[in-house]
Amino acid sequence: MKGLPTALSTNPKSLPDEENFCIRVALDVPLPRLFEYSLPEEIDARIGDRVAVRFGAQQKIGVVIEERATPQIAAHRMKPIVAVRDDAPRLPPDWIALMRFLSGYYQRPLGETVIGALPPRLRSTKPLPRKVLQREPQTAGARFVPNHELTPAQASVLERVSGGFNAYLLHGVTGSGKTEVYLNLVAKTLERGMQALVLVPEISLTPQLEARFREAFPDTQLAVMHSGLEDIARTSAWLAAARGEAGIVLGTRLALLAPLPKLALIVVDEEHDASFKQHEGLRYSARDAAVYRAKLAGCPVILGTATPSLETWHNWSLGRYERLELPERASPGARLPVVRTVDLREDPAEQGFSKKLLDAIQQRLALGEQSLIFINRRGYAPVLACEACGWTAGCERCTARMVLHAPDAARTKHSGRLRCHHCGAEAPIPRACPTCGNVDLKPMGRGTQRVEETLAARFPAARIVRIDRDSARRRADLTRTLEGIRRGEGDILVGTQLLAKGHDFPGLTLVGVLNADSALVSTDYRAPERLFSVLAQVSGRAGRRERPGEVLIQTRYPRHPLFAALERHDFAGFAKSQLEERRAAGFPPFVFEAALRAEAVKLETALAFLRDAAASVRAPDEVHVFDPVPHLLTRRAGFERAQLVMQSSSRPVLQEFLGLLSEKLFGTAPRAVRWHLDVDPIEFD
Ligand code: ADP
Ligand code: ZN
Ligand code: ZN
Repeated sequence: MKGLPTALSTNPKSLPDEENFCIRVALDVPLPRLFEYSLPEEIDARIGDRVAVRFGAQQKIGVVIEERATPQIAAHRMKPIVAVRDDAPRLPPDWIALMRFLSGYYQRPLGETVIGALPPRLRSTKPLPRKVLQREPQTAGARFVPNHELTPAQASVLERVSGGFNAYLLHGVTGSGKTEVYLNLVAKTLERGMQALVLVPEISLTPQLEARFREAFPDTQLAVMHSGLEDIARTSAWLAAARGEAGIVLGTRLALLAPLPKLALIVVDEEHDASFKQHEGLRYSARDAAVYRAKLAGCPVILGTATPSLETWHNWSLGRYERLELPERASPGARLPVVRTVDLREDPAEQGFSKKLLDAIQQRLALGEQSLIFINRRGYAPVLACEACGWTAGCERCTARMVLHAPDAARTKHSGRLRCHHCGAEAPIPRACPTCGNVDLKPMGRGTQRVEETLAARFPAARIVRIDRDSARRRADLTRTLEGIRRGEGDILVGTQLLAKGHDFPGLTLVGVLNADSALVSTDYRAPERLFSVLAQVSGRAGRRERPGEVLIQTRYPRHPLFAALERHDFAGFAKSQLEERRAAGFPPFVFEAALRAEAVKLETALAFLRDAAASVRAPDEVHVFDPVPHLLTRRAGFERAQLVMQSSSRPVLQEFLGLLSEKLFGTAPRAVRWHLDVDPIEFD
C-alpha cells in the first residue's frame, strides 16, 4: 500500500490548524472511508464537484464530500487534487444526502456508492466526447395532450395527491388507467417548471410507455435511462436530467440515482416488481429508495400497481402510505376477466394441456381472437413431493419447504439431501412418503419446454408467437413482435413473465396458465405473493376492450385459497391471509432481514468465513443470526456460495448490528473469500 494516500484513521494525529484544511473525496475503492487531499490555491473545489486525484500510481475520479475539513493525516503526506471537472453539473446536496443514505442503509462504502451511481463515462478520467456535451435544443414546453377524458375515479385520485411529501399506493386493477393518472400528475409537475421521475421495472416495457409519454408531452425533453443504453446515450440522458433540462426522466431502477435539481414527483410503476431490487454492487431497492428520495425532495411518490407488494400493503395498513384506488377498468365496457381453475386431477394434462384449455383455444381460433399461454418459470426450486397424497417435504424448524439437493458427482458421500434454505436444517431423503407410504417420491416442478411444439402440432394452421428471455434478446426485435401482436399478428402467444406485464393487446381474450403449482409448493415464502401477482398481471392481459376475457388456470390444487382470491379479484383478502401467515411464521414485513453472503473456491472456506463472521460480533438479543447454508445453486462461475440470514423485529437494531459486522469484515475478511451484505434481500437462491 506504499504510496497510496493514507486512509482516515479514527484518531486524528494532527491538531486542527487554521491554515491547514483539506477536502475529503469519495473514491471507487472497496474501503469504507473517504480520502483526504489538499486544495491548491488556484483550484476551487466544492462539495459535489468531480475531481481528478492521484491514487497510488493512477489517477482516479472522485467526488468531494466534505470541504474545509481538518486533516487527519500529516500535511507532508497529503497530495493536492489534480483538477476539478466542470464538464457535468456539480452534484447537488440532496443527491449526496441520498448517496449517504444508500451507503449507510445498504452497507456499501460511500465511495463505491457515489462513483457507482455515475454513468461510466463520468467515472473515467478521460474527457467527455464532444458528442455527449451537445445539448438538445431547449424545449421547455409543458404542453399536455391528454388521451382521454378522465373517469370519475381517475379524477378523484388526482385530487387527492398533494404537492408535499407523501407516499401514495395507487392500487388500480389491470387496465384501470393508472398510466393516465401518471400522465396527468406529470403534466401538473411540468406546468410548475419542475421535473418528474418515472420508474418502470423492465426495459421491455419502456417502448410502449415511452411512446405514450412522447405523445402526451410533445414539447418536453424526455430522458430515457436503462442499462441497455450505449455509454454515450446514457451519459447524455444523465446530463439532461442533472442539468434540469429533461422535464421527464423515464427509466429503470438506475434512473433513481440520477441527480434531479428540480425533482417534484416520483412515480414507481408496478411497484411490486422484483426487478427494482439490484442484485450486485449497491443492492438497493429503487422502490424503497424512491420513498426516501421523495422525502428529501419534499415531493409526492406514487407507488402504482394492481397487486401491491406485501411490504407496501403493510405500510399502508400502518398508516405510512395513503391508498388511492381505481377499482374498475377505465376503457368503456371493459370488465375484469372471468378466472377459473381447471382441475388436473379430473382433466389430466396431456403434454401439458388439459382438454378444457385446448377447447378454449380452439374456440378463440374460430372467432379470430388471440390466446396467451403462460408458462410460470419463476420461483422454481425442486421440492420433494408425493404424487399420491400431495405431501411435500417441509422443514421442522420453519414453515418453509425443504429444497431437494441432487446427488453431486464430485462429492459422492450422499445420494442427495433435503435442505431448508431459510434456517439451514438438513435431512436425508425419505425412502417413502411419511403420510401414505408411497415409495415413488419425485421432484416437482419440471419445466415445460415443448409447449410451442405441442401447440403447433395440435393447431397446424395457427400462427404461434413465442416470447421469452431467449427469443427477446434483442430489444428492437421484441418491440417489433409486441407491436405485431397488438395489430393482431399471431393467434396463440406462448410466453413467460415477459408477456405478463403492462402490455395492452386489444385482441387477446383467453389466457391459459400451465404450471402454477410449482410456486404453490415453493421453498420461498415470497412465492405465493409472486404467483398471485404474476397471475393477476397475466390475467389482466385478457379482455381489455369490449370482448370479455377468460383465464383458465390448470392446477392440482383447485381449492387453494390463492386461486379463490384470484377468481374473486380479491387482492385485499389474499394479502390479509398472506400477512397473517407471515406474521405467524416471523417473516418480513413483520421482521427485517439481511443476508451475509460469501463465495470461495471451496465451500468449506465460505462456510467457515460465515461462521467466523457470526462469532466475531456479538449479536444483540433482538437480532437472530441463523446458521450458514450453501445456496441452492451452490456453485456458480467456479465459486461455491453460501449465506447466513439475520433477522430482527427492530430495523434500527439490525442496522446498527450490520454496521458493526461490516466494519469488522472490512478489516478481517480473508482474501480467498468474496463477501457482501444484502439488506432486505428478496432472493435467497
Ligand atoms: P393500467 O396501467 O392501469 O393497466 P392503462 O393506463 O394501460 O391501465 O389503461 C388501460 C386502457 O384504458 C388503455 O387502453 C387506456 O387507453 C384506457 N383508458 C385509460 N383511461 C381512460 C379513460 N379515462 N377513458 C377511456 N379509456 C381510458
Ligand atoms: Zn404420500
Ligand atoms: Zn428451516
